[in-house]
Amino acid sequence: MGIEEKLPSGVLLTTVEGLAGYFRKASLWPATFGLACCAIEMMTSGGPKYDLARYGMEVFRASPRQADLMIVAGRVSQKMAPVLRQIYDQMPEPKWVLAMGVCASSGGMFNNYAIVQGVDHIVPVDMYLPGCPPRPEMLIDAILKLHDKIQGGSLGVNAEREEVAEETAALRQ
Ligand code: SF4
Repeated sequence: MGIEEKLPSGVLLTTVEGLAGYFRKASLWPATFGLACCAIEMMTSGGPKYDLARYGMEVFRASPRQADLMIVAGRVSQKMAPVLRQIYDQMPEPKWVLAMGVCASSGGMFNNYAIVQGVDHIVPVDMYLPGCPPRPEMLIDAILKLHDKIQGGSLGVNAEREEVAEETAALRQ
């Protein structure tokens, strides 16, 4: 007989990783960081109509030290790139990055010298969200998909992320 059958019903079995993943995804705090027009949709997502607070993340933090999600909402200019990287570096681990909109994801229609052609040249990105601008429903959908990723993540160092972080650091030099 397995241990599950011996235990009375109502006892929840999980792993430490599963439990940590659950709490991590249920209390994501985004950094207050809007770069362009996409930020308006991001702000709307936190309002009463779309109610991002339902997912435990109504607290946009002004300090990167208290944030674990960076939503890059808008195009990233070359001048802003080092600032963005500094904010990312100031965020404690574990942390995640969501590229919101076509500009943050790939430069979008700004195919020119002034705009970074995708924020993944600066920081490792966990979730890409297309659209110009993506509607609040789309942002919430991307966040929920990120939740699934966080829930399935491991407690230890994310080797894949570390690799990407090193690559982006090399690209900046
Ligand atoms: Fe603005 Fe569209 Fe670029 Fe978002 S994707 S920053 S809405 S131009």
